[in-house]
Amino acid sequence: MSLFRLTFLGTSAAQPTIHRNLSGIAVKADTDLLLFDCGEGSQRQMIRFGTGFSVDAVFFTHFHADHYLGIIGFIRTLGMGGRTAPLVLHGPPPAKRLLRQAVHLGVDALPFQLDIVELQHGAAVRRQGYTVGAIRVDHRVSALAYVLQEDDRPGRFNVERARALFVREGPDFGRLQRGESVTATTGQIVRPSDVLAAPRRGRRIVISGDTRPCPTVIAAARDADLLIHESTFSDEEQARAEETRHSTAREAGRVAREAGARRLILTHLSSRYDPDPSKLLEQAKEEYSGPVEVAHDGMTVELPLRE
Ligand SMILES: [Zn+2]
Ligand SMILES: [Zn+2]
Repeated sequence: MSLFRLTFLGTSAAQPTIHRNLSGIAVKADTDLLLFDCGEGSQRQMIRFGTGFSVDAVFFTHFHADHYLGIIGFIRTLGMGGRTAPLVLHGPPPAKRLLRQAVHLGVDALPFQLDIVELQHGAAVRRQGYTVGAIRVDHRVSALAYVLQEDDRPGRFNVERARALFVREGPDFGRLQRGESVTATTGQIVRPSDVLAAPRRGRRIVISGDTRPCPTVIAAARDADLLIHESTFSDEEQARAEETRHSTAREAGRVAREAGARRLILTHLSSRYDPDPSKLLEQAKEEYSGPVEVAHDGMTVELPLRE
């Protein structure tokens, strides 16, 4: 897998503002297109920011209205567009009950198969070249964070070393790179570990969803390439953050620091920080010394491969 690109479709908490739509992140993982949450208005954001509609799977963090009502209209648009490919919607319970109601609103039958899968803490959905893991977080309702974990890539192939060991050039080079042993022209067995460097770690992205600072997120974000953490409030509303089971920007910064995440992006901002979220950024920076940004609608992030 080479491409890992995220597009923020919406970055506002609870209600949309002039500049910010409700929650949604589109992730392009090579040919796969995933959605994480689908707040009202997400489909128009997908048009604005050019993500395309060929979504392969949707993952809901939880079922507060600002995170999922957009699926109703989006499904209808896909139906009108003549989609035939199946679509899978994932989420914590009660995904089945709520999404079934949502997607069957209306009178038209859908022309494609739609499956709803409930995920529990620890579940992992296997995709081509990566997995999407679900972890429980601490919100007012049953809620999940998601961990996108790319498979490790084999270490670099040392051509000089292979030649020095008299490996036949051509197919035998490929076999070694795929993890098979081969017999050299000398009759000696050459193992992959003789000619391959240590495996290269796959990239990891953690999407917190709505949550209080949470040990499961800290564990999952350890050394992650990117932590996307909700940041609904600033210090002034610490009590409100605790009461509503959300995080402040400072707390998001602390989670990133404790996890040793390589990069932090804050999203899910209360409308009072639109259009100026600088206070959130400052407070997160007081806790976390790595690169930190506040997401905006249309913001695109491409993660480089790990060396
Ligand atoms: Zn929310
Ligand atoms: Zn919520």
